[in-house]
Amino acid sequence: MTKMPNYISTTNACKLCKPLGAALAFRGIEGSVPYLHGSQGCATYMRRYIISHFNEPIDIASSSLSEKHAVYGGAANLKLGLTNVTKKYKPRLIGIATTCLTETIGDDVPMILKEYGRETAAAARPLLVNVSTPSYSGTHMEGFHAAIAAVVDQLAENPGVSDTVNLLPGFVSSADYRYLAEIMADFGVKTTMLPDLSETLDGPALLEYEKIPGGGTPLEAIKGMGGAKATIEFGRTLGSSKTGGSVLAQKFGVENMRLGLPLGIGETDRFFAGLQTVTGLETPWKYAMERGRLVDAYVDAHKYVFGKKAIIYGEEDLVVGLAAFLAEIGVMPILCASGGRSGSFAAAIAAATEVSRSMTA
Ligand code: SF4
Repeated sequence: MTKMPNYISTTNACKLCKPLGAALAFRGIEGSVPYLHGSQGCATYMRRYIISHFNEPIDIASSSLSEKHAVYGGAANLKLGLTNVTKKYKPRLIGIATTCLTETIGDDVPMILKEYGRETAAAARPLLVNVSTPSYSGTHMEGFHAAIAAVVDQLAENPGVSDTVNLLPGFVSSADYRYLAEIMADFGVKTTMLPDLSETLDGPALLEYEKIPGGGTPLEAIKGMGGAKATIEFGRTLGSSKTGGSVLAQKFGVENMRLGLPLGIGETDRFFAGLQTVTGLETPWKYAMERGRLVDAYVDAHKYVFGKKAIIYGEEDLVVGLAAFLAEIGVMPILCASGGRSGSFAAAIAAATEVSRSMTA
């Protein structure tokens, strides 16, 4: 029998667990600890997955339910866990996401948190935000957006109209959050970016482990989001789902400008046009020059990439953005796939690549 050669298999799933996305969103908030209401195994899997992806430490607390709690409910463990996390971490916020187990047994987390509020002194309690994230009903991206919507819904107030712009980029890399903050600063516009994983999941090497890393969206800024002059939210496939931008529009009348992820020239032009509309300012010269250099690079590389075919798979909005970019440079996406089920994936790709085609026509 012929011996098969050894090989290394790498599996990159494009659909992960829903509360994992919520834990990532909570991690991007100042002084916050993500907390899973479920079994230890869920929290361990998520910590392990996030740590190996980001190469950064992350603590995710758990109410550590066992078989007994699947029968009698997990309220007592949830409350005890909150008290323990408060003592150990001294967080400013605990972001609580449910899991498959607690959704299946029907634990009423908002009601349990109300009880906990009555049983503990307000001064001894951090802010608590909860989100329902049964993993059998969505992906990590849906969990991420649901957590952002819950944060805005439960914390934002209307302190009166301000000049601030809310930026809700969705789940992008730490470097992307940093670059988006730089763009907003260069425009000279005061911005609340939610979340902000630029420091919390990409920090410097430290001599001592920080239980809660510095950085993240300031809580005071989140409270003021209801008074912002507009929200810019990335996500062509978000449709009619409840998001941070839709909550702010419905509760406080903040205009929600929903755009695609700014990948490639077409989608990035739409982002900068949106910024110009919201701020009434011109795009800084630095970015006009960057755009010009990129067009030049497109021209230089055209003879090498034109007519090639590509298969793209991943998170829905990332695939949409990459398809738009590839269409711009003459690469034909012949198969686009995702684990998400927004229902607007195909239409979003058609719309984003239509923008690209009209640019190059
Ligand atoms: S049981 Fe559900 S919540 Fe827990 S890790 Fe698995 S998919 Fe995620």
